[in-house]
Amino acid sequence: MPIATTNPATGQVLKTYDPMSDEQVDAAIERADQAFRQLHGTTAAQRGQWLIRAADLLEAERDETARLMTTEMGKTYAAAKAEVTKCATACRFYAANAERMLADEPADAAAVKAKRAFVRYQPLGPVLAVMPWNFPLWQVMRFAAPALMAGNTGLLKHASNVPQTALYLEDLFRRAGFPEGAFTTLLVGSDAVDRILSDSRVRAATLTGSEGAGRSIAQSAGRELKKTVLELGGSDPFVVMPSADLDKAAEVATTARCQNNGQSCIAAKRFIVHTDVFDAFAEKFAARMSALRVGDPMDANTDVGPLATDRGRNEVHEQVRDAADNGATILCGGEKPAGDGWYYPPTVVTDLRPGMRMWSEEVFGPVAGLFRASSYEEAIEIANGTNFGLGSNAWTTDPAEQERFATDLDAGNVFINGMTTSYPELPFGGVKNSGYGRELSALGMREFCNTKTVWVGEGEAGPGAGAHSE
Ligand code: NAP
Repeated sequence: MPIATTNPATGQVLKTYDPMSDEQVDAAIERADQAFRQLHGTTAAQRGQWLIRAADLLEAERDETARLMTTEMGKTYAAAKAEVTKCATACRFYAANAERMLADEPADAAAVKAKRAFVRYQPLGPVLAVMPWNFPLWQVMRFAAPALMAGNTGLLKHASNVPQTALYLEDLFRRAGFPEGAFTTLLVGSDAVDRILSDSRVRAATLTGSEGAGRSIAQSAGRELKKTVLELGGSDPFVVMPSADLDKAAEVATTARCQNNGQSCIAAKRFIVHTDVFDAFAEKFAARMSALRVGDPMDANTDVGPLATDRGRNEVHEQVRDAADNGATILCGGEKPAGDGWYYPPTVVTDLRPGMRMWSEEVFGPVAGLFRASSYEEAIEIANGTNFGLGSNAWTTDPAEQERFATDLDAGNVFINGMTTSYPELPFGGVKNSGYGRELSALGMREFCNTKTVWVGEGEAGPGAGAHSE
């Protein structure tokens, strides 16, 4: 894929970049390694000051930065502005909380025959971050803010269609005060990733992206025995039970499916509705989906902008056609519009069956699959019946049912009577083919730390002397 900004609203190529050479990449890795040593001599309070400055800059530059994202990948300007603000909030959160999250944790010294024993969290070194275009600022920030606060350095290989946002991020951290090399954007294609991971100075990697990219990076990192965190795709279930407030559920379902023009890993994608309320919900949901305004993402009245790439739009349309050609029913949408820009209408498809692509694949656009379940058990069976396990939603006012959903949904998160989202305070990640490891919260920060056990004695033989010593 060329490294270029192409406006999805017009299809026009606005800016292209030559990929960096191997020599340029090697020099950037060296700078990241040097910066890591420099950060070693800084306190969390100092790094926090830089992160707060980054938050100030983000807030001051919100509108221009949002415009850049909208131009590069098509999200609505309003959503882009909210994304910038969310990044600033995360910077402030980690600046305020990192010291507490990374504080030494005392252990029971007597139990391990020590004078003193504790766990210390220390940074690993340069971390490679391979990131997607769908939240071009937020996906990077939720790695970078905790990683930099912990004292790691970052090497960003961003998606090839958002090079300007990628360069903005490097510039942001530099202007905020982080040392040269602490955060570097590598303008390279995905074919450069394996070589970067084989460099001994690069200590770990994180990828947010598709299952295929996850497998590829996990293989390279496995060969090099390097830690990875993988945030991959999802086909989140949104279960509606008879006790739910159907109007509210239909309203949130529409946002949950069409936020970010339908291109979110944690968008609700499969709507599993109890048969007692199926028809009522389907009618309300299809009406709301049809009423969304599709158009210019810079227009404040637009709900859904274009998809980020023409290839992505074709893929979504082929998934819908595959369902329709095999007997599914399209309740609204489903037609690819003519004209400029990679627009796709909000679409609801029902009567899906196993074997259809929409039954098992992730649909990365504003297209909802609607499933009927005759019982709680069947709803859970459909909800868990994919290889993904990222987010999940359940709508019920019955407390006992809420408890059951919290336990039975096989996913990295369960949101009940609300839309799945991410917060700096809560861990974020998936199970099954949605990946492993966690981002955000203290858990996310510690993913790229050495969890070091420190045992301090009086000078006598160690705790395992004469017994099991491994
Ligand atoms: P993608 O094609 O996997 O790209 C993501 C990143 O991986 C890009 O930087 C891409 O570089 C790189 N990449 C692609 N193939 C690679 C390979 N074989 N080796 C190394 N790097 C590789 O995904 P996308 O189409 O941009 O994003 C959509 C997918 O990401 C969806 O499946 C979505 O659910 C998932 N996603 C997950 C989360 C989460 O938090 N779990 C969040 C957002 C998106 P190039 O651009 O140069 O190809």
